[in-house]
Amino acid sequence: MATMRAMSVPAAGAKLRLEERAVPAPGRDEVRVHVQACGVCHSDSMTVGGAPGLTYPRIPGHEVIGVVDAVGAGVTAWQGGTRVGVGWSPGACGHCTNCRHGNLFACENIQGATGVTRDGGYATHMLAHASALARVPAELDAVESAPLLCAGITTFNALRNCGAGAGELVAIHGVGGLGHLGIQFAARLGFRVVAVNRGRDKEQLARSLGADEYIDTTSADPAAALRALGGARAILATVTDAAAVQALAGGLGVNGTLMVIGGVGALTVDSIDLLRKRAAVRAWYSGTSVDSEDTLLFSERHRIRSMNEVYPLEQAQVAYDRMLSGKARFRVVLRVDQS
Ligand SMILES: [Zn+2]
Ligand SMILES: [Zn+2]
Repeated sequence: MATMRAMSVPAAGAKLRLEERAVPAPGRDEVRVHVQACGVCHSDSMTVGGAPGLTYPRIPGHEVIGVVDAVGAGVTAWQGGTRVGVGWSPGACGHCTNCRHGNLFACENIQGATGVTRDGGYATHMLAHASALARVPAELDAVESAPLLCAGITTFNALRNCGAGAGELVAIHGVGGLGHLGIQFAARLGFRVVAVNRGRDKEQLARSLGADEYIDTTSADPAAALRALGGARAILATVTDAAAVQALAGGLGVNGTLMVIGGVGALTVDSIDLLRKRAAVRAWYSGTSVDSEDTLLFSERHRIRSMNEVYPLEQAQVAYDRMLSGKARFRVVLRVDQS
């Protein structure tokens, strides 16, 4: 019997533990992926910490790069040996009403998330619905690029849908795991990029990644500082603190959009300010597999790189704790199996 190694969560709130189990056979419309690398994302805390309706044991991980090593019945578009990525989106059926309207992210039949409602990539092997697969360019290193499957797509896809045109002012709020990628994408998309962060210690890095301007939120009213630059056509909120998001929202310019890409709970924004500017608050779902593919191709073409701290699969708990500490520079990735 062929076996696989996995770092699984035995119960909500429990530590990750190493498991050896039989390699699963792909079901209908599924493929099996031999995992090369998997990023560790803050959203993995849903699985590790527990959320309503989840079942255990569960293997986290939704920033996966690997190689197809078996295909199930009904899969015609993918063959063994193809390099693929799997992200947060677990796939889409293609025939429900939302899918038929092109809103595959809201598929009515395939719901949940990779590594949350189905097993993910903290393992040598995983199953994925064929519709959840993105092609990975051969030039991209698996360990270096795994975070593009969540942190990357989340920032790239929101930025290309934020309404800003070339040369317009776009603020990237937060210079961390998401923000350091957001700055690179925003610069390559042709925006005038302002990085916004607490303190000055990340200013040089932000500028080296492509930021044209920098606002230190501790030294002045950040919204006023953004307005002084002309007001933002878009603000990409990558921070996890609602109060910080609210403090910057007034920096939107005319027709500006505050793009929310992560859960921060309830937000309070001044409706009068929105009205005067015809501004908006908009959330953006990270994206589906084809958006991942676009993200990977764009990143390869423009040499966009995630800065990562790398751990072996068996040290997933250490890696996870490091990610939760908020001190990693900037993403944490598990090196799984590159044989
Ligand atoms: Zn994620
Ligand atoms: Zn559907």
